[in-house]
Amino acid sequence: MSLSRRTFMSRSALGALAAVGGAPRAGAAEDSAPDAITWSRTIPVRYTPDVAVLGGGIAGVAAACAAAQSGASVLLVERFAIIGGDLTTGGVAAFCGETAGQGEVFDEILADLEKIHAVTAYQPFPKADHRNFDHHLLAIVLQELLLRRKVKLLLHTRFVDVRVGAGGRISECIVCGKSGPEAVRAKQFIDCTGEADVARTAGFAVMKGRPEDGLPLPMSMMAFVRHVEPEEAGPQLPEGWFAPVRDKASLPMTSIWPNGPRSNALKIKIPMFDATSTEGLTLAEIRARRRTLEVLDYYQRVLKKPWRYDGCSPQIGIREGARIVGDYVLTLADLRAGKMFEDAIARGVYPLDGHKPDDDQRTYILKHSEMKVPPYQIPLRSLIAKDGANLLMAGRCFSGDQLALSSARVSTTCAMMGQAAGIAAALAVQKQTDPRRLDPRAVRRIVGERGGKLT
Ligand SMILES: Cc1cc2nc3c(=O)[nH]c(=O)nc-3n(C[C@H](O)[C@H](O)[C@H](O)COP(=O)(O)OP(=O)(O)OC[C@H]3O[C@@H](n4cnc5c(N)ncnc54)[C@H](O)[C@@H]3O)c2cc1C
Repeated sequence: MSLSRRTFMSRSALGALAAVGGAPRAGAAEDSAPDAITWSRTIPVRYTPDVAVLGGGIAGVAAACAAAQSGASVLLVERFAIIGGDLTTGGVAAFCGETAGQGEVFDEILADLEKIHAVTAYQPFPKADHRNFDHHLLAIVLQELLLRRKVKLLLHTRFVDVRVGAGGRISECIVCGKSGPEAVRAKQFIDCTGEADVARTAGFAVMKGRPEDGLPLPMSMMAFVRHVEPEEAGPQLPEGWFAPVRDKASLPMTSIWPNGPRSNALKIKIPMFDATSTEGLTLAEIRARRRTLEVLDYYQRVLKKPWRYDGCSPQIGIREGARIVGDYVLTLADLRAGKMFEDAIARGVYPLDGHKPDDDQRTYILKHSEMKVPPYQIPLRSLIAKDGANLLMAGRCFSGDQLALSSARVSTTCAMMGQAAGIAAALAVQKQTDPRRLDPRAVRRIVGERGGKLT
């Protein structure tokens, strides 16, 4: 049973999904709050790096490593215990698109995974469109890479607020870990949170969802099963729990992926929830874990699979949160035209993989025949927040429309954007200027020197 749009919309009274220009400040009530308070507190400025990266997914890791490689002092803030975002805590275990030529940070990640036999062999895109890896080991590879590059890492630490001055200049971010709230004063900030937390909190313009109704690309839960003897398998859905899947027609889109010996990962589509809303995301997690047992029960009971539940990823996989409006908004038309830019700093090749937002079946926004794109470029301007002086972004929250995101969201392209954002931030620090005042050809040249293939 999929949620009706009505259910979605009332639940996401929790956070309007329509494209917004300037979100309310974080901490403000999301809906019709009966009451409001103002609070203030004096906190220490604990960290003063050149570059602060908020969010430690693949984009954030690439940004932090690249900025450090350029000689900047870098702080990376991650809300969870481990680095990697969708690729680790989200349980996604495949690099899609072209894995060669994404830049030296991504090359080093691949080389480390190869050393420990944790990634499948390279084949050029489109001969192969993905490489599987071990997501538990990736978390360790990423953390070690950051430490080698001397990036200061804060785990279990959440970005919570921002101080913005004249001209959209961010002076400090407020983060909160177990030591309580502390300020980070940096020269350049890079929002890699996926949900554009920094930009939304700053009140900078963001875009969300599809234009007609604001519905985001669906989330998916990654669940894991162990192959066991038939008598050790389920069923694991006791009578009266949830809503068992009775037949194939009511099974949500479920893709079965490899997950090492005697194991599989199941990717289960969970549409119609808003990842930028506290209650929306909570409901998505609850729904996803229930759905996991319902789907597993179907495979065990109806299809007689000798599988045992081996857990699911700590957090649901999020394809779309919010995208920051940049100096340029990359569009579907740009991708279809294989548009090249003078200030190109990244390249994408992956098809327009836009899962349909309003049902849980194997449906897509575009027909299969319309999904392929020629290689296209992403300009530096799509990584510079329009309303900010010193805010860059990379990864899922870059400046593009929903269908541009449906391709550019793959990890390879997110890594490439991250590396470019890190290079631009560090260069801006060196030149004592802001990213939009840089000569974009200088950023492009460094991207090329560091192994980023733009054509
Ligand atoms: C179900 C699913 C399957 C996918 N399959 C593939 C695939 O097979 N191949 C592929 O290449 N791509 C795939 N993708 C896409 C890809 O995994 C992601 O788009 C990409 O990894 C996003 O990287 P990111 O760094 O932009 O964001 P994320 O990975 O989401 O990283 C954001 C990071 O910021 C942190 N963060 C968020 N808010 C805060 C805050 N306030 N304070 C501090 N930290 C914060 C998060 O914890 C997270 O670590 C898939 C995505 C999903 C959801």
